[in-house]
Amino acid sequence: MLSSVFGPYAQDDEFGSRSINPMELYHNQVTRAQGSFSLRMFHRSWGIMMIQENISEPSTVLDFPTREDFARELTSHRYDIVGISSIITNVGKVREMCRMIRKLSPQSVIVVGGHVAAIPGIETMIDADHIVRGEGISWMRRYLGEDENAPIRHPAIVSGMRTRIMGIRLPERKGATAATIIPSVGCPMGCNFCTTSAFFGGKGKFVNFYETGDDLFEVMSRMENELKVQSFFVMDENFLLHRERAMQLLARMKEAGKSWTMSVFASANAIRKYTMQELVELGVSWLWMGLESPRAGYSKLQGTDTRQLARELREHGIRVQGSTIIGLEHHTPDNIMAEIEHAVSHNTDFHQFMLYTPVPGTPLYQQIEAEGRLLREIDYADIHGQFKFNFQHAAISREDSKRFLDWAFWRDFELNGPSLYRIARTLLAGWKRYKDWPDARVRERFAREMGHLSGVYSSALWAMEKQFRKVNARVSEQIRALRLEFKRESGFVSRMMPAVLGPVLLWATRREEKRLARGKTYEPPTILERRNWVEA
Ligand code: SF4
Repeated sequence: MLSSVFGPYAQDDEFGSRSINPMELYHNQVTRAQGSFSLRMFHRSWGIMMIQENISEPSTVLDFPTREDFARELTSHRYDIVGISSIITNVGKVREMCRMIRKLSPQSVIVVGGHVAAIPGIETMIDADHIVRGEGISWMRRYLGEDENAPIRHPAIVSGMRTRIMGIRLPERKGATAATIIPSVGCPMGCNFCTTSAFFGGKGKFVNFYETGDDLFEVMSRMENELKVQSFFVMDENFLLHRERAMQLLARMKEAGKSWTMSVFASANAIRKYTMQELVELGVSWLWMGLESPRAGYSKLQGTDTRQLARELREHGIRVQGSTIIGLEHHTPDNIMAEIEHAVSHNTDFHQFMLYTPVPGTPLYQQIEAEGRLLREIDYADIHGQFKFNFQHAAISREDSKRFLDWAFWRDFELNGPSLYRIARTLLAGWKRYKDWPDARVRERFAREMGHLSGVYSSALWAMEKQFRKVNARVSEQIRALRLEFKRESGFVSRMMPAVLGPVLLWATRREEKRLARGKTYEPPTILERRNWVEA
């Protein structure tokens, strides 16, 4: 059995769940100040899905179990191996799960992997037989006596579940949600704070699951058939860095007339290897880029005017998600507000803010530890970048770190409005620019998004305009201007839709605001998947 750690997650408990750290990536660290406009969804535990798909032994993946689900599964089948995947914050849950396994399934070998393995002295904190650092597919294949160099088979992964915004849960039809593709893990840029880069080898290293654009094209075509999607969430820390692979993929897409959409992560230096046309032809419609801080000196940002780059991307219909660090070494109470103002002036569609955090395994952790500045009494459950510093900062106190972080989220929302409005604006800019473009694949992509969504966006804009009228008249006016533009560009049905759907969305939004004020939280569903299974 391969399991993620148990929930519920969005609550404070003795095992390390924290209400401030729910299992919702966007709501947790990107849109959490946006109230009912926050984008809420759950993502599967991809590591254990990848391992399951690439071993031939009978196996079960148990994702987001409760403790009761986990105990039931342990006692209702005889498992030789129980693997647990976890991040650092959940080490308390891993400890408890190991205890449960020893008691309920004493014959099982316990294997623990994921970022939790980077904690110094983890061997003495949990009762596991094997602790796996780095990429786990080859480890598990080796352990089972299978060919660790066999080609990687990609599981069919739907990118998000139970998506919710403005108080409405979006329908989960086949093909309505993107497929997640994982071409590589790790990133060779090796930024000092980056856990993913450090976990898969650090500076100069990464693990490629698919070396060529041809390989990637085959995987994406298979996902297109299996999941009926044309949209892909490419979970690669720096997808555009591998230009040769991306350009070969583009050639295959052109050859086959594929009008795919891609959401990717990339550093500024990697993005600059492409022209805007190449990005648009490749189908890049959403891009997560680290802005960090203009004064931090990261090599990936050298020589780039990130504000101009973000603006240019948006003008070409590419939604930009910026990511900024709060509490870098040069930050002081006197300069941090100006840095936050600089960050929000990028006017990105989404903006993640994270505290500068020495996380075990990273070069930053080693440096801060060597300098004697780690705050050792902090519970691992509170080291996730959304709470308070876990180290002694030269100029900013632990309490103030949280205040500045919260202010950054608030300021971005206040100045730029809800992300839903911003992505509608970027989509419209792309549509206007590319609706008559010579490449039919590009035209088709923008037409598809406008066709499906213009009525929905117009209705959402109608509701947002009303909702913001009293609390932020400036943003409400901007939303209104965009709504009128949508009206001009939309077909008859989409033009009529806001009259019906708008009031419904406004009512749902207000209902959601009340629910959130009462402390409503959301949890992912428990998922159980068996492969090569033979019932005894
Ligand atoms: S560029 Fe991004 S993914 Fe790569 S090491 Fe730096 S922070 Fe990590």
